[in-house]
Amino acid sequence: MRINLIPIQIRNNSLIDYIKKNLELVFNSEVLIDNIELDLKKYFNESRNQYYSTEIIASSISLSDKLNGKVLLLVDVDLFVPVFTYLFGEAQLDGKISIVSTFRLYEEFYTGRTNDKLFYKRVLKEALHELGHNFGLIHCESWNCVMHASAGIEEVDVKGENFCGKCKSVITGKMI
Ligand SMILES: [Zn+2]
Ligand SMILES: [Zn+2]
Repeated sequence: MRINLIPIQIRNNSLIDYIKKNLELVFNSEVLIDNIELDLKKYFNESRNQYYSTEIIASSISLSDKLNGKVLLLVDVDLFVPVFTYLFGEAQLDGKISIVSTFRLYEEFYTGRTNDKLFYKRVLKEALHELGHNFGLIHCESWNCVMHASAGIEEVDVKGENFCGKCKSVITGKMI
């Protein structure tokens, strides 16, 4: 199964390259960088100063009609859904589209200090996590597994950076 990586307004080519290479390794699958005509401004909520994640996903379904496989949107804007203060990402469970925001994954956001290595690792973990939901995985009990839920950045950092054996076998089953 192919994975399409769609960076929106992200100009950090080295990050995109890192994510692509690592997704290819983990999923043992081709990852294509593509784009869709999505205008994020439409999903901006002025009172929250954030972007409505679920609506971005909903609009992406028809926009990515021609793309086979899974579609991971990578954005740099702050995402929300009404019941949460913010989101690192969201995905259609056992579906096609997922989204990850880099906004709250920068170490600068928390400490003011740049840490590219940590930032890249966080983006990769959240990309794997949301794609895992696309492959039908729900949250995993194991802290060693990237499918563990993360309520805050500390939990993103603590959880493992790959799928546990159980979660991995679900993905492998769907890849065939
Ligand atoms: Zn999740
Ligand atoms: Zn797991």
